[in-house]
Amino acid sequence: MSTTAADLALKTDLFIDGQFVPSETGKRFATVNPATGETLAEVAEAGQADLDRAVAGARKAFESGPWAAMKPRQRGRILTRAAELLLSRADAFGRVETLDNGKPIFESAKIDMPAAAECLAYFGESADKLYGDTHPGRTDAFLMTIREPVGVVGAITPWNFPLLQAMWKIAPALALGNAVVLKPASVTPLTALMFGELLAEAGLPPGAFQVVPGPGPVVGKAMAEHPGIDKISFTGETETGKAILRAAAGTVKRVSMELGGKSPNIVFADADLDAAAKGAINAIFYGKGELCSAGSRLLVQESIHDALMEKVVERAKKMTPGDPLDPKTRLGALVSEKQRDTVAGYVAKGESEGARLVAGGKRAAVNGKGAFFEATVFDGVRPEMTIAREEIFGPVLATLTFQDENDAVSIGNSTIYGLAAAVWSRDVKKAIRAAKALKAGTVWINAYNLYDPGLPFGGYKESGFGRERGHYALEEYSQVKSIWVDLT
Ligand code: NDP
Repeated sequence: MSTTAADLALKTDLFIDGQFVPSETGKRFATVNPATGETLAEVAEAGQADLDRAVAGARKAFESGPWAAMKPRQRGRILTRAAELLLSRADAFGRVETLDNGKPIFESAKIDMPAAAECLAYFGESADKLYGDTHPGRTDAFLMTIREPVGVVGAITPWNFPLLQAMWKIAPALALGNAVVLKPASVTPLTALMFGELLAEAGLPPGAFQVVPGPGPVVGKAMAEHPGIDKISFTGETETGKAILRAAAGTVKRVSMELGGKSPNIVFADADLDAAAKGAINAIFYGKGELCSAGSRLLVQESIHDALMEKVVERAKKMTPGDPLDPKTRLGALVSEKQRDTVAGYVAKGESEGARLVAGGKRAAVNGKGAFFEATVFDGVRPEMTIAREEIFGPVLATLTFQDENDAVSIGNSTIYGLAAAVWSRDVKKAIRAAKALKAGTVWINAYNLYDPGLPFGGYKESGFGRERGHYALEEYSQVKSIWVDLT
């Protein structure tokens, strides 16, 4: 089975000005298949000089030449063409994503890539639909606003949904005529490079999209400080986000941040328990729990605790880790050994603080290798325990109980994060009351982990600010200009 860059015909240099180019220092770094521990590719490592070159090319594309001159609808057509190409190559892109990240091929090829293509198509169709307005306040003047692109956008992205997360930034930014410099996560840089080539094939002019893999504290930090970058769009850990905010302050850059989460998944006694149990499993084990929006805290009303937990535990025990390339696998390898160590550390902490382990809890291997971890469920968790407070970013569910609606909302909100939440109930009024009271950017009712490119996504509190997707994303990548026309 092909598992090296050469077998997969991957390009592993930097993607700058429409071409693959080696880094100036010639340095390369390895990206590893976490399911086998084998090196998948040696990728060119960008440094300051490469970043400067990428930013200069992006600025040129933004300010002059074919990209700058293109009509919005033409830009849109390039994106919709790219969407079609990506969809037609979902299996190939999905395979590389799976080899690089460890996620099941079912997720990468059948869900993530089609979702990335849908996002591209959505913003392709939006390219000429960000309207300004007129203001009727004067008789002596005609007042209007127009929206213009911000310029060069620096996108810094994490490893859990490597191409999909990047697409939420790339698609709206390009739709509006910005140029994008993308720094993908170092453990999963491959599909971003493939996508650069695909965009060029779809007709994107050189410079409009650049990919500069390299270490976050070097390349990412330099992007945040770079005077040639007008906006940073970041997805990643809250602590990294804080460092980027500080680095971006020197040039007063626009910044938007999608950060961590510790999302409550609240099940009331009147819920459909089978649906809620299935939803709880999907909420925490989709994407191996390496999901910013993971429903990592299951909040169960006391009266149905035993009935629900029986169903949740039974389902969790069936979620056995498997070969990520097997289409039947639903729990793949964690992204790295390092991440597996982090997850194992949290499980040990959960046990030592007195939580009850009712499923999983151990490292696992498939064919004798890989960074796998069992689907893990803790019961009897209290709000002050570490596993109820900190983002684990792995397949570990912390179950807590509550007495009534107020109690549920208060425990749900007892976190520094506010990315997502869910409520399961047959009582529409109660569900909506709770949804409104929860301090989170997204609340699902009787569902979990469902997304649409038109519905915005982003955080409250330390889960960040700014929104991805929908017309809010178009606003993030544009700025308002007021025009006063004297009529006297
Ligand atoms: P990190 O914050 O470690 O890394 C994210 C990106 O930032 C990577 O490209 C990384 O580069 C880069 N980076 C690291 N240090 C710096 C720095 N000092 N300056 C600039 N860039 C830097 O997050 P992870 O990749 O570990 O992703 C997991 C985190 O992302 C979780 O906390 C999760 O909740 C969050 N996340 C949030 C989402 C949301 O929408 N809210 C969605 C997905 C994930 P390198 O890879 O080289 O270290």
